[in-house]
Amino acid sequence: MNSDLNGKPPPTWYRKNCRDCPRLSEFLDQVKREHGDYICKPVAPSGARHAEFLIVGLAPGKHGANATGRPFTGDHAGVLLYRTLHRFGFSSAAQSHHLDDGLVLHNCRITNAVKCLPPENKPRGDEIANCNHYLAAELAEAHLRLVLALGGLAHRAVLRALGMVQSHHSFAHNAEHRLANGLALIDSYHCSRYNTNTRRLTEVMFARVFEKISTRLQQPA
Ligand code: SF4
Repeated sequence: MNSDLNGKPPPTWYRKNCRDCPRLSEFLDQVKREHGDYICKPVAPSGARHAEFLIVGLAPGKHGANATGRPFTGDHAGVLLYRTLHRFGFSSAAQSHHLDDGLVLHNCRITNAVKCLPPENKPRGDEIANCNHYLAAELAEAHLRLVLALGGLAHRAVLRALGMVQSHHSFAHNAEHRLANGLALIDSYHCSRYNTNTRRLTEVMFARVFEKISTRLQQPA
């Protein structure tokens, strides 16, 4: 798995060449043949392990994280995210271009529920399950206080990683939940091109989510 941990090496539990999902691994091989300059590997989280705030997306985009090796970088999905992260002080820059652009996340880490690019941007249930132990390890980081789930799939993957009953914690935009390990979980619609173009998620709506996150993180642990 590629590393973009603000200059630090990846944690030992990452397997950078994980191929536990045959369909996804074969798809990555196929995309690599078409786009030789793309990373086409499992994409590691960006941001330091000691961050208090973890953002969980769905999976790498074909021409985004799968190409650049940094979550939400290289395609439209990161435009609103990094602009908002910068506005609220979680990112040193309002745009994320590539692994070596010098961008640094502040007290924030970004990952995906599924680390490999899925066909049609749709991972299967068995692939979400296969990858869930990586997410569980990320959710167990000692300094973590708050998780933002971008979309229903990320929301359900977080609950699954902690063994929680899904029906007791339904996904809703800007809803807040208490996770089994004591962390706060806040939901948002995914900042995808489709959601922003259709205005299912607007800049104002996303900012309100981040206002809540900032408020929670300013409160005593
Ligand atoms: S999706 Fe996760 S479990 Fe599956 S091959 Fe990629 S890194 Fe491994």
